[in-house]
Formats: sequence, C-alpha cells, structure tokens
Amino acid sequence: MAGAERQHNVIQDLLADLHASFKDVREGRVADYIPELAKACPDDFGIVIATSGGRLYEIGDTRKEFTIQSISKPFIYALALKMLSLDFMATKIDVEPSGEAFNAISLDPESGKPRNPMINAGAIAASAQICDADPAGAVELLLDYFAELAGRRLTINDAVYLSEKVTGHRNRAIGHLLRNFNIIESDPEPALDLYFQQCAISVTCKDLAVMAATLACQGRNPFTGGQPLSKDITVRVLALMGTCGMYDFAGQWLHDVGIPAKSGVAGGVMAVIPGRLGIATYSPPLDAFGNSVRGVAVCRQLSVGVGLSLFNQYFQKDATIRRSYKGSQRQSRRWRSDQELRILAPHRDEVRIIHVQGVLDFGGIEQLAAELVQLGSDVRILILDLAHVTECPLESSGLLDRQLCAIEDQGVEILLSRAGRLPLVSMPGWKISERVEAYEHLDSALEAAEDLLIARYAEPADDGEGLGLGALEEHGLLQLLDEEHRRILAERMTLRSFAAGECVIRRGEPGDELFLVRSGRFDIAIDVRTGDGLSRATRLATFGPGLCFGEIGFVAGTPRSADIIATRPGACWVLHRDAFEALRCSHPDVVIALLTALTCDIGAKLTQTSVQLTLMEHY
Ligand code: GLU
Repeated sequence: MAGAERQHNVIQDLLADLHASFKDVREGRVADYIPELAKACPDDFGIVIATSGGRLYEIGDTRKEFTIQSISKPFIYALALKMLSLDFMATKIDVEPSGEAFNAISLDPESGKPRNPMINAGAIAASAQICDADPAGAVELLLDYFAELAGRRLTINDAVYLSEKVTGHRNRAIGHLLRNFNIIESDPEPALDLYFQQCAISVTCKDLAVMAATLACQGRNPFTGGQPLSKDITVRVLALMGTCGMYDFAGQWLHDVGIPAKSGVAGGVMAVIPGRLGIATYSPPLDAFGNSVRGVAVCRQLSVGVGLSLFNQYFQKDATIRRSYKGSQRQSRRWRSDQELRILAPHRDEVRIIHVQGVLDFGGIEQLAAELVQLGSDVRILILDLAHVTECPLESSGLLDRQLCAIEDQGVEILLSRAGRLPLVSMPGWKISERVEAYEHLDSALEAAEDLLIARYAEPADDGEGLGLGALEEHGLLQLLDEEHRRILAERMTLRSFAAGECVIRRGEPGDELFLVRSGRFDIAIDVRTGDGLSRATRLATFGPGLCFGEIGFVAGTPRSADIIATRPGACWVLHRDAFEALRCSHPDVVIALLTALTCDIGAKLTQTSVQLTLMEHY
C-alpha cells in the first residue's frame, strides 16, 4: 500500500496509553468566570508531542480550537523583550515567583512592579508596553508573531474576547493600579483591550505543541525553520515558566514534574523540555489552582514514567569523541611511490586523527580537551574531523579556541576536516582561525598530513615534487626489471606532458595505453552513491611520481572505467598497445617481466585497500 507506515511507534503508543489512563478522570471544573469559557466540553481531551526534530505525535482532540488564555503570557513577555529590550522591561516587571493566584493584585508595594510576567498583573504590564510601542498595529503585530510561533495563522475568538472584556473588572482594576504606579504610562484601556484579545487567540493542542517546540529549540520553529525568538530571550522565558508558569502550584510543579510549563484557564497546558520536546494537552476541567486536571496528570506521568524532568538529565559520557586513532591506521587515497612510503613509514604515528561528534557545548569541549591533553608528545599533526558535530554554541566556542591554541602552541599542527557547516573557522574573535588549515574532505586532510611528513623528513634532494623525477629507468614500477629489460622498454615509451585540468583518460575509451608518472598529480574520480542515495563525485585515488595507472584496461583490453584528470601540470611515460604487442614477438621475456611488475603493483594496491577497509571496521 503506497504511503503506508508501520504501526506501533512506541511514542504514539505511549500517548495512547496516557489518553486511555486519564480520559475517564472526572475531577475538576470547567472555568466559568468568563461566561463564554463555561461552554467548553469537559470530555475534550488531546495530547500532542512535537519534537525538536520536527516530528509530531498526537492523540484525541488535538485539532479542536480553544482560547490560549494565560499560555499567551510567556510569548507576550518574550515579544516585549524583543521589542523593548531586557533593561527596559526590568524597570516594568520583576521576575520573582509570586506564589499567588493568577489574578492576584500582586505588585511590589514600593515600585508597583508586578512580581512576574506570568500573573495577570505582569502580563497586562507587558501588553501595555507593546501597545504603547505601536498602538494602532499591536493586534496585527501579535497575530503575525503568533503565526510564526505556531506555523499557521491564528485568529481571535471574538465571543470569548467580548465576554471577558465586559466581565473583566478585576483585570481592569489591575490595569488602573499599574497606571497609578506609572508601570503603564498612558491610558490603560487600550492595553487591557489588547490583553483580552491576546487571551482570546484560538489555538489547537497541536498549535501549542509547535509553539512549545519552538521554545525547546531556542526560539526556532522546528517545523517551519523560522526564528521568531532569539536564544537569549527564549532561555529567560523558559526560566520564568519554570518558576511561575503554573500559578501558585509552581513550586510543587517544579518539584514533582520538573518541566517548565504554562497553563491557561481554557484547559490548555504547554510544557517544554529544552532542546528536545514541546508537549501540549487540552482538557477543560481545572483543579483548585486553575490548572487542567488531566494536563497536570499527563505531564506528571511523562516526567516520572519516562524520565522527562529537567533535573533528571543524563550526562552523555564520552559521547563527543566518535573515534580517535593513529595516523598509521588510516592513509589517504593518494597512492605513494615506494620512496615516499619509505619516508612515511616510521613517522605515520606522528599524526593523530580525532573524529568529534554532537554538540560542542561545555560538556563536549570538556571531553575533547581531556582527549587532547592525553596526546603523546610524539604527535605533531592533529586532524580534527568535525563532520558529525551538530553545533558549536557561541558561548562555549571560546573554550575550544583556547584549547586548540594551547595545542598549537606546543608545536602541533592542526588540520580541520569537514568543518564547513560550522562557523568555526570564521568565529568572531577566534585566534586559531589564522593558525589552522581547513579541508573540505577528510581524505584531503590525510593527504596534507602525509605531505607535511614527507616535506619534514625527505632528504633535501628528494623533497616533494622532485621525488621520482629523472630517467624512466629509475621509475618505481620498473625496479623489478633488470637493466636490459628496462632499456628495451624505455626505447618504446614516449614522454607526454599534461596541462593542469587536462583529461588523461576518459571513461569508455579503449584502454590502449599504460602510464608511468614522471611528475604531477593524477586523480581518478568516480560518482559514488552515498548513504543518502545521492551520487557524489568522489576521489578514488591520486597518483604521483613513481606510480603507474591505466594498467587494468591495458592488461585486460577493456574500456576505461573512470576518468583520470591531471590536477597539476605533469608528465607520464606512455606505453602504447601497438608497441606492447610488437614486444610480445620480439622480446617476450620483457613482456613477462613487465606483467610481473604490474601484478606486484596491483597486488600491493589491493593489499593496502583491504587493510584500510579492515581497519575502518574498527574505527
Ligand atoms: N484571560 C484570563 C484572565 O485574565 C486568563 C487567565 C488564565 O488563563 O490564567 O482572567
């Protein structure tokens, strides 16, 4: 069946169990102090979990609309912070838990400041600041903002709005009291009107879960990718939800459940597990504190039953170091001449390769630092592969910079591999940026490390490019042949030059030539289908001086299986099939010697490839 999905996702099953466990609970009363709210159906019950990965799990009445009520408060306070700054808002509203009911007239006796933005006094004060900043456009501004938070356009339930507007005398009194203390600096009525409208915004349980997930993701909506709130503001709002979000049950809530949350009198509860989940429930009957009875029960069960309390976090012990191994365990795909291999062999373990993964926050950097300080004094080159690092938060990145600088100061050359997606190399204030080389592929970093070793340990006469330069008779492949055979072969080969970027061998062409590299660099690239199903041009191997290529097609007489490109100017000695065939008749012993040398060469390449593959299983 097209599009059919497997049943029994355990998370979905968990929601079904929770729903079944609490749907028959009959405690609590639907709020009726706003007459319109009394019309809610006490049996309505929905639960939604929205993850930071952008996945949704839901059960029950999750698409039925109800009014957001007090759950608007954290968002409105966040909007006020965004529009008017933290310092300004600190002059208007405190951030102390009040331990009083939502509608308490709880103001500081001297300054008149509301205790916090989660009680009505604080919320009305926050709405007033937004209203003052843009009196005419405030409602539209609010709806635009909520659209970003929920990922869809929300509307105001006029019946509930008007119902509260005509009966909200207590809130009106709070507004005027705030005016008296100059917390609200102009006529409080427009601010109260905005407050009544914001409380009457219609949401579904699913909307609340998406909004909660947005808070869980540091202000980024994981379903739309939009960023309605900054990380800084989100952190503050979550702290306030933690200490003041559940009316005067907040202390007990944090103790028992341990999840920042906010409830509303229409029956919604929104809870946030930072970094991970948004949870929303909808069930209108309320307990004596004004919190949804079933909502509290669901969150309590999630906290205790599946360990979601904020105070029950697991330290990801040593999860940051994905792998750490010595240079001798992994070679680049650049084939090296015997001469280069001899230089590299005793020094390969001066290279260390460390693959890092996950979030490089404080915990991640601590683990990386512990690994780095353990590096032996013989390590001279460090390849830091960051392909699996998901984030490097700005707050902790300075520590990483310092640690890398310290390692570099000790004479370790640092090569960053696959750091592309991270702002590491361009991090503001980073000192290490000027001191490290960054590579797009791990293989290029490995090759660079090998080049560094060769440059460091080669005799002055045979450094880098010069390796293998000289007469054909000195070429690595021909060293198994005796002098006479080498001479005969040399007479039949021609030296051909290639410009950088020139295609030497094209896929599908007949394999009529054998190439012995004299100078330059020659890459074989093929399209490899990777795990994600996409096809990527991948470097299979690179050949430099002293090596040969094109031998498979040449010996088997088959068409070329891949392109070979000169990546820098170079030259090869070329043996054409015609010359080779002529040799079969005139000098069969030379042909046998050459084929023997090629067999050894292919065998050596195969051995190295098998060793690398086997080692990779242990990484
Ligand atoms: N509009 C409601 C009021 O101010 C919101 C109360 C709440 O949800 O806590 O009375």
